[in-house]
Amino acid sequence: MYSARLTEFTMHEMSIAMSLIEIATTEAARHRPAVIRAIHAEIGELAGVEIESLRFCYEAARANTAAAEAELVIRRVPGRGRCAACGREVALPFLLAVCPECAAPGLELVSGRELRVTSLAMDDAPEGALEGE
Ligand SMILES: [Zn+2]
Repeated sequence: MYSARLTEFTMHEMSIAMSLIEIATTEAARHRPAVIRAIHAEIGELAGVEIESLRFCYEAARANTAAAEAELVIRRVPGRGRCAACGREVALPFLLAVCPECAAPGLELVSGRELRVTSLAMDDAPEGALEGE
């Protein structure tokens, strides 16, 4: 059923969006009162993440957090694999079990499964926002 599938995907992207925000707000809290301006993330093309859905979920999940105004900056990492048999490195637009060059099995994934926060852009919180000031 299409609607059930849609919900399933959205739940997946919502949990990823909440994880990204949690990582960012936890990191921001370790430093000083800060407003997060941007969350930079790497998301592999083979990570199974629907980017439009993730952006939609992110908009909803960031409300009332230290990342409420933070832009989500996504860098897509292309899928690449290396063949143990012929040694070639090949582009993987989707997951393959066999080498597209020599058809040997056991293709090793080099990149494309990334799902991580790479950096944060932060500003000091405005004076008025600090407790007791
Ligand atoms: Zn090969």
